[in-house]
Amino acid sequence: MKFLQYGTGCAGECSEVTESSIPYLLNVFTPYFLFQAMIKKIKQYSAKFGCDKCSQETVHIGRSTYQQITNLPLRTDDTFRRKSNAKHHKRGNTPFTKIQDLDMIAQFPIDYMHQVCLGVMRKLIRVWISGKVDKKARPNKLIKLVLRKKRIINSRLAKLKALFPDCFQRRPRSLNEIDFWKSSELRSFLLYSGPMVLKGMLEKPMYDHFMYLSAAINILVCPYLCSQPALLQKAREFLEYFVSQAKVIYGEKFLVYNVHSLLHLVDDVERFGCLDNFSCFPFENYNQSLKKMVRSGNYPLQQIIKRLSETESSLGQPKKLSLSLSSKHPSNKYVTYDRHCCEVLEQIKDPIDGADYVRVKDYGIGQKLFGSPLDSREIGFYKVQTNASVRQVWPLENIRNKAIMISDKSGTAAFLSIKHEMAE
Ligand SMILES: [Zn+2]
Repeated sequence: MKFLQYGTGCAGECSEVTESSIPYLLNVFTPYFLFQAMIKKIKQYSAKFGCDKCSQETVHIGRSTYQQITNLPLRTDDTFRRKSNAKHHKRGNTPFTKIQDLDMIAQFPIDYMHQVCLGVMRKLIRVWISGKVDKKARPNKLIKLVLRKKRIINSRLAKLKALFPDCFQRRPRSLNEIDFWKSSELRSFLLYSGPMVLKGMLEKPMYDHFMYLSAAINILVCPYLCSQPALLQKAREFLEYFVSQAKVIYGEKFLVYNVHSLLHLVDDVERFGCLDNFSCFPFENYNQSLKKMVRSGNYPLQQIIKRLSETESSLGQPKKLSLSLSSKHPSNKYVTYDRHCCEVLEQIKDPIDGADYVRVKDYGIGQKLFGSPLDSREIGFYKVQTNASVRQVWPLENIRNKAIMISDKSGTAAFLSIKHEMAE
């Protein structure tokens, strides 16, 4: 119990902890899988029975892999507490089992920042660059991006830099710098830029395969989309297909823990809502804030404490509520509730009743950008004609999502609705 008290104490809410707040606290404190294994007193992911969600035995082929894809032998709170799969547990008992209402499996969700973005997405890019699924293996000519195509992808990424709205703190950068990409850059690539820059560059089976992962995570990251049972079911099927095809395209060794954990991701979304509700991204974002508080190399901890106390003393002042949208390129691209794609030119207030309106350049109702593995409009990706815009004035509440607009020379543009939690 000490651990829990420590965690809640950090949040400054120790006196307010109740049984009902425990699931929330666990979401906050335990999404990282290495940390979860430690506090649950279970073996690490590479052990013989390393998955904390199912009890399949790993297959060691130079590394621990998870070959079973369907009919997974799921763990339950009951099997965990009875230690029915004894080899999964370390010696001793975790104090968390003293909490009767805590589900030792379901309430320890998967963190998509580490497992999907830093895990699967980065692994895929590295494989495409090297052509090697296994470090010791020879490059596979079908998988490896030839230099010409890699250059085209890099040039497409460079063009996107100027098109990403201000809500992205990090802009796309070259594949040559993949070792330095942060988790948020890998997320942007997976959700938005990857489907655009990889088109026609990867071999078709590999591109189509990547799109299953991208479409599934686009659904799971959006609070609205993931609340629709039909789309959630699609995400589940897409991830199952992605994992089974990964085995075909990249071989059995590709099925490491991070790839396997995709098969359990939808269960967590069903329970907790969109992926950003239980990811490590807020911690990562706060790391950035902490770094900014350090202005010199001396006494960094003291500097952080001083800045934090300054922030806390200003918290008493009321914040200004603002409904304003951006009217500055490239942050002024939006999609409305009735799927119109537009650029906001100006926000206006009705002088009589004070109602908010926006003057926009309307490109009309967005059309299908791609049709596989699903109609792109289902995940808010549209195609418009750029030479067919009209000026309109709409009520502000028509605007639904911020978007990335990517124009091409043929007079069309893609509008990609931004669906993840934007506080980067
Ligand atoms: Zn599993």
